[in-house]
Amino acid sequence: MRKVADSLSESSTQPEAMEEDEPLFSNLDLFLFTLIAGLIIYWFMSRKKAEPIPEFKQAPSTRETSFIEKMKKTGRNIVVFYGSQTGTGEEFANRLSKDAQRYGMKGMAADPEEYDMCELSRLAEIDNSLAIFCMATYGEGDPTDNAQDFYDWLQESDGELNGVNYTVFALGNKTYEHYNAMGAYVDKRLEELGAKRVFDLGMGDDDGNLEEDFVTWREQFWPAMCEHFGVEASGEDSSIRQYELKEHNDINMNKVYTGEFGCLKSFETQKPPFDAKNPFLAPVIVNRKLNKAGNRHLMHLEVDITGSKIRYESGDHVAVYPTNDTAIVNKLGQILGVDLDTVISLNNLDEESNKKHPFPCPTTYRTALTHYLDIIHPPRTNVLYELAQYATDPKDQENMRKMASSAPEGKALYQSFVLEDNRNILAILEDLPSLRPPIDHLCELMPRLQARYYSIASSSKVHPNSIHICAVLVEYTTKTGRLTKGVATTWLKNKLVADNGHKSTVPMYIRKSQFRLPFKASNPVIMVGPGTGIAPFMGFIQERGWLKEQGKEVGETVLYFGCRHKNEDYLYQEDLEEAEKTGVITKLNVAFSRDQEQKVYVQHLLRTNKEDLWRQIHTDNAHIYICGDARNMARDVQTAFYEIAEELGGMTRTQATDYIKKLMTKGRYSQDVWS
Ligand code: NAP
Repeated sequence: MRKVADSLSESSTQPEAMEEDEPLFSNLDLFLFTLIAGLIIYWFMSRKKAEPIPEFKQAPSTRETSFIEKMKKTGRNIVVFYGSQTGTGEEFANRLSKDAQRYGMKGMAADPEEYDMCELSRLAEIDNSLAIFCMATYGEGDPTDNAQDFYDWLQESDGELNGVNYTVFALGNKTYEHYNAMGAYVDKRLEELGAKRVFDLGMGDDDGNLEEDFVTWREQFWPAMCEHFGVEASGEDSSIRQYELKEHNDINMNKVYTGEFGCLKSFETQKPPFDAKNPFLAPVIVNRKLNKAGNRHLMHLEVDITGSKIRYESGDHVAVYPTNDTAIVNKLGQILGVDLDTVISLNNLDEESNKKHPFPCPTTYRTALTHYLDIIHPPRTNVLYELAQYATDPKDQENMRKMASSAPEGKALYQSFVLEDNRNILAILEDLPSLRPPIDHLCELMPRLQARYYSIASSSKVHPNSIHICAVLVEYTTKTGRLTKGVATTWLKNKLVADNGHKSTVPMYIRKSQFRLPFKASNPVIMVGPGTGIAPFMGFIQERGWLKEQGKEVGETVLYFGCRHKNEDYLYQEDLEEAEKTGVITKLNVAFSRDQEQKVYVQHLLRTNKEDLWRQIHTDNAHIYICGDARNMARDVQTAFYEIAEELGGMTRTQATDYIKKLMTKGRYSQDVWS
C-alpha cells in the first residue's frame, strides 16, 4: 500500500514506477482519495453556507411622510409642528393638539423632520385648516436639530403658501442674544410666502416663566380660533387619555426595554453610528475632584471612546443621558403603592400616530421612572390639571385646576407652590396627601428625561480616544427644606472608574457646534471662561499646543479665567501654568473674585488689558470666545468689549455695539453660554 500522495510524488520523480504490473491505485487508495475529495468539497460547501454576520440595519420606514394625506385620512384639520431640542416645544405641541378636541377640532403634533414640509402649500385643501408652529431657538439663534431642514427649506423656498392659516409660539430665553430668533423668523417668513397669520406670535421666555407665557397665549388663542372658524367650544374640559395601559404578566424579559433609546438590546450589542437614538456606552476612565477646597464639588471626567468611530472637534458638545436617583424612584413607587417591577406598555389610542408609546415599551415602571421620565423638574400646569381629578380633597383639586388657568390667582399659586418652592412630583405627592394618581397616568404625563450637554474639555488631536468633561455638582436646598440634587451632575459624580469590578459607563453622543478655533492658527485667540466656562478652552489650549508641535505658526493665545479663591477652585491650575511656561498660553489672566474685599471678575482684567486687547482685535484679527454663565457674566463681558471699542476705537455706544455685532457675524466673537 502506498499513500496516494507518495505515489503522486513518485510518479513525477520516478517515472519507472509506472511500468510496474500492479494497478496505479489500489481500492483503498481510491477510497481514501474519494474520502479526502469529499471532505474538501464539504469544507468548501460549508464555508459557502456560513453567512457573514448581519449588519445592523434600521427597519425600512413605513411611516407616512405626507402630513396632508394623514390629516385627510384621519379627519384632522390642525397640525402642530414643533422645533424642539429639550422636549418642551414638543410638549407644548402635544398639548395644543390635544386641546383641539376640546374645541370640536382634531389636531396632530408633528415633527417637521418626519414629514415633507414642501406640502405646506397643500394645507389649504383641508377645510378650516391651521398649522401651528411651536419653535424653539437653540444656541446662538439657531434652529433646533429637528427643524434644521425645515429652516433651510423656508430660506430657499419661493413657494406660494396662499390660503395656509398659521400661528407661531416661540420658545427661547431672554438672556441670550438672539431671543426667540427662530420663532420670529418662521412667523415672518411664512407671511412673506403668502400664508395667513391668524393669531399673533407668542413669545415664551424660559428665563422668566415659559409655562405662564404659554398658558396665557393659549387661553387667548383658542377663543380667537373658535371665532375665526365659527366653531363653538364644546366646554368639554375633562381629561383625555392618550395612551392605554397594558400590563404584561407573562413576557419574555429579553423583549423588555431596560433603558435603551432606539433598538432593544442596543446597549448589549453596540453598533455605530452613535447618535441621540443610539448612544455609545463610554467607559469612565477618570473621575476626579478638581477643587482643592471649599464645599462644592467640581469634577473632571474622561470617557473612553476607543473603537466607537466617534469623531469630535474642540468646541463640540458631548450629550449624556443621565438616570434618576434610585431613592426618588423608590419613594414614588412607595407613595403610589405600586410594584415598580410590573412590566407594562402604554399604547397610543390613536393608531394613526407615529408615536406608538410615550417611551420605549414594553418596560417596567422602574425603568421608565429611572431612564425615560423627567421626575425632577417642577411639573408643568397641564400635568397638575390632569392629575387634579385624582385628588380626593376638593380644596386640593380646586387649587391644582386653578394653577393651570391663566387667572392671576392661579398663576401666583403655581409660581409660589411649584416654581419658587421648587416642588418636583414627589414633593407634590408628599405635600398633597389626598392626591394619589394611578402611576400609568402619571407616566403618561411626565415629560421625557433629556440628554444633558457639556462643552468638551479636550482636543481630539491630543485625545482622539477620550472625551473630557468639566462640571460642577448642582446641589441646593429648596424653600421647603428639601435637598435637591442636579440629576446629571449627581449621576456623573457617582460614576466611579471601577464600580465593584464593573466599568461605569455613560451613554453619550456628540453634538457638533459652531464654537471653533480660527481656521488660520496664526490668528490670535482671546478666551474668556470663568468657572466651568474653562471647559472648551482646555480643548482649545491642547489644540494650539499640538499645532505648535507640528511646527505651525500659532498666534497669541490669551486666557481670562475667573474663580472664587486661588487656593480653592483655580481649576486646572497646574495645566494652565505649565501651558503658559511652554508658551502655548501667551498670557494667563486669572481673576480671583473673593480673595480681596472688592470683587475682581474677568471683565475687570479685560479693562486693565484694554490696549493689548484692542490691538489684538482691531489690528491682528483676533477671535474672541466666551464660555460660561449666560445670565450675568456673558452680558457683563460683552459690555466690557463695548467700552473698550468706545474708548480705544473712538466709537459711540451704537457704533461699538455694531462693531461687536459685525465680529459675531464674521465668526470672530463666539459664545458658548448656559443659563
Ligand atoms: P462659579 O464658580 O460660580 O463662578 C466662577 C467665577 O465667576 C467666580 O469667581 C464668580 O464670582 C465669577 N462671577 C460671578 N458673576 C460674574 C459676572 N457677572 N461676571 C464675571 N464673573 C462672574 O461658576 P461655575 O459654578 O463654574 O458656573 C459657571 C456657569 O457656566 C454656570 O452657569 C454653568 O452652568 C455654566 N457652564 C456650563 C458648561 C457646560 O458644559 N454645561 C460649560 C461651561 C459653563 P463670585 O461667585 O465670587 O461672584
